[in-house]
Amino acid sequence: MRARLASVRELAPRTAHFEFACDEWTGRFEPGQFVSLTQTIDGNKVTRAYSIASHPHASAAGGATLALCANCVEGGRFTPFLFSLRPGDEIEFTGPWGGFTLRKPPSDSVFVAVGTGIAPFRPMLAAAVAAYPATQFTLIFGARHRQGLLYDAEFRALSAAHPNFTYQPALTQPHAGWAGLTGRVQAHAIAAAGERRDIDVYLCGMREMVDDLRAQFKAMGFDRKRVVYERYD
Ligand SMILES: Cc1cc2nc3c(=O)[nH]c(=O)nc-3n(C[C@H](O)[C@H](O)[C@H](O)COP(=O)(O)OP(=O)(O)OC[C@H]3O[C@@H](n4cnc5c(N)ncnc54)[C@H](O)[C@@H]3O)c2cc1C
Repeated sequence: MRARLASVRELAPRTAHFEFACDEWTGRFEPGQFVSLTQTIDGNKVTRAYSIASHPHASAAGGATLALCANCVEGGRFTPFLFSLRPGDEIEFTGPWGGFTLRKPPSDSVFVAVGTGIAPFRPMLAAAVAAYPATQFTLIFGARHRQGLLYDAEFRALSAAHPNFTYQPALTQPHAGWAGLTGRVQAHAIAAAGERRDIDVYLCGMREMVDDLRAQFKAMGFDRKRVVYERYD
């Protein structure tokens, strides 16, 4: 299918929210899934996966909006091309793909992301907290600085509107006056689980955090099936 870039919004330095218009797509997907973008770059076909950051919706006109959240990787093969796209430019994609979706019925859950790993959690949490008001959802989101807390205002609004959602942003390099969590997300994720082993944990982002937390939750006695993850690298 073809996706036509409609708009790009900078969320943080070298990090952007892309909105594409997709005339051939229904817009149906399960929050947490990803699409694969393909482009021929320097004569080679390059395909990269991106979590869908928009909320599911079917457009009456048959087309749909697809939002992605990506950071431009220095020396990366695909992202410099993605960031060079201008409104009106088109790219090929396939999907939706993947099984990184909410377990149903959901247990109380802790979501952990760093950086653009937040992308699938945007639609997942918006849908989950509204659909399951008796289930507790906690998001631990790590960034270096405040600017890196992508979609921060949305998560704050979601937690204000839904008592079953707790938002815990954590900064490794906090500014003066920051009253939230500090340091890496790992310790906060483990603290959020506490003594409970009947909760689900969702991890998304780079291998370093995901593998570290998977190992720590396993050592704590978590059932393997309760630790659900999407690794970006
Ligand atoms: C299922 C899945 C979903 C993904 N969803 C997203 C998403 O929503 N947003 C997103 O930005 N990326 C996402 N990724 C990563 C994405 O597919 C690319 O790997 C990434 O954009 C780098 O592509 P590149 O060609 O520019 O870099 P490459 O030339 O492929 O790699 C250069 C380096 O970039 C590192 N890298 C990979 N991903 C990132 C990242 N996100 N931030 C910093 N360094 C990275 C790799 O470890 C590698 O060392 C996802 C990956 C998978 C498997």
